[in-house]
Amino acid sequence: MLEKPGDIDVVTHKVFHIVQNYGRGAGPGWLVEGITDYVRHKYGIDNAGANWSLTPFDPKHNYTNSYRITARFLVWLEKNENKKIVDELNKSLRTRTYTPETWVKLTGKTLDELWQSYAQNPAI
Ligand SMILES: [Zn+2]
Repeated sequence: MLEKPGDIDVVTHKVFHIVQNYGRGAGPGWLVEGITDYVRHKYGIDNAGANWSLTPFDPKHNYTNSYRITARFLVWLEKNENKKIVDELNKSLRTRTYTPETWVKLTGKTLDELWQSYAQNPAI
């Protein structure tokens, strides 16, 4: 906060961790951080002012890269696969029912299949 006093949405990210309150072991850390940066992207007050945005897609990326890279994947999934996917993932983590099968339940595809589709056409 001292280095970037204008970056108010660090608080958006951190407060959402409190809202998540999943507890340890509810799901993979990359997903927890991806959802949190998705929330910052969607509800942040001044991301532009802080020069913060989702990381542009790169073929070297993977969903496990976490933070803005996973957040961008979530935005794409919401647009192309399931409008409610982030809400549903949040719910599964909160109720500690998240498994790799959750992706199949929500989209009909495995996580790796979803990432492949995303990598082929990553526009958001
Ligand atoms: Zn975080």
